Amino acid sequence: MSVARNVLLALSTNAWLRDHATKTAFVRRSVSTFMPGERLEDAMAAASAQQTQGSGTIFTRLGENLTRAEEAEEVTQHYLDVLDRVQQAGLHAQISVKPTQLGLDFDRALCAANLQRLVDRAAERDNFVWIDMESSPYVDPTLELFTRARARSSRVGVALQAYLFRTDKDIEALLPLGSAIRLVKGAYLEPPSIAYPKKADVDENFYRLACRLLGADAQRAGCLLHIATHDGQLVDRLKTFIWQQKVPKTAYEYAMLYGIQRPLQQRLVQGGEPLRVLIAYGEYWFPWYMRRLAERPANVGFVIRNLFAR
Ligand SMILES: Cc1cc2nc3c(=O)[nH]c(=O)nc-3n(C[C@H](O)[C@H](O)[C@H](O)COP(=O)(O)OP(=O)(O)OC[C@H]3O[C@@H](n4cnc5c(N)ncnc54)[C@H](O)[C@@H]3O)c2cc1C
Repeated sequence: MSVARNVLLALSTNAWLRDHATKTAFVRRSVSTFMPGERLEDAMAAASAQQTQGSGTIFTRLGENLTRAEEAEEVTQHYLDVLDRVQQAGLHAQISVKPTQLGLDFDRALCAANLQRLVDRAAERDNFVWIDMESSPYVDPTLELFTRARARSSRVGVALQAYLFRTDKDIEALLPLGSAIRLVKGAYLEPPSIAYPKKADVDENFYRLACRLLGADAQRAGCLLHIATHDGQLVDRLKTFIWQQKVPKTAYEYAMLYGIQRPLQQRLVQGGEPLRVLIAYGEYWFPWYMRRLAERPANVGFVIRNLFAR
């Protein structure tokens, strides 16, 4: 992976830079590319427009690594309210949560209970909860959370990262459960001992794992795959696989982020492909924004100069 990507990912966790950068006009302007606004209302208005154009939505409120039970409770209450409001507004919008927003760092039982409340509410509202995958120390506890919740309800899915060597085995374990899996390349800074350092290898692994999750075994088990990438070549290769293997549209959806690769999003919708676009909102957007910049390191010099500008 490029040096630029590693620099931006390292800066994404820097508290001083977060406080400084989020006040600069450049950063505030630039983040609006990826976010329709900080408020849930902004996200709902964007979701409504997306729906008119033919794509569904996934909402996520930004924030991670909370340290107090009251904060995790506030996040849980927020998402319960989102599930209610989505139904009232008739939106085709799911939610996606980070386990560390629900208390994973300080109380795993509380985190599991909070997740269960969301999954139960999603079932009542005919909706669905996605669990984001965070950095590698969280993979085991996140998969444990997912398998416990999945044993009680099919209204929950989990993200898996193609850059990790272990994901192969994780998929083999989750496939017989008929799991809903969002396959992503992976957005964190991980060492070469556990993750493919070369982008080409990550791309190839994504293709291989996606084919496995679209295969006959996975379909028989009732798996759902979210093909979460903006990589046009990968999308085209998978479209060919789906067409050749006659994979039904109930077995997969494409998933992308708001504001990224809009022409590709339009092309999929116009071709009748199922697409969901993830809309992020909330005040705590800095680490998330830096991970988005790291995915497009072409402008890294420009970005860093502006981040440190007075
Ligand atoms: C719906 C969704 C949910 C996700 N959830 C998680 C998660 O739970 N855990 C996790 O680790 N990661 C998550 N990610 C992020 C993911 O891991 C990647 O970091 C991100 O999607 C970039 O990789 P890519 O597959 O789009 O391909 P890339 O090969 O990185 O990009 C392909 C092309 O897309 C365009 N592009 C990609 N990213 C950007 C950008 N930020 N700005 C401008 N253009 C861009 C560029 O043209 C680029 O050439 C999620 C991504 C999506 C779409």
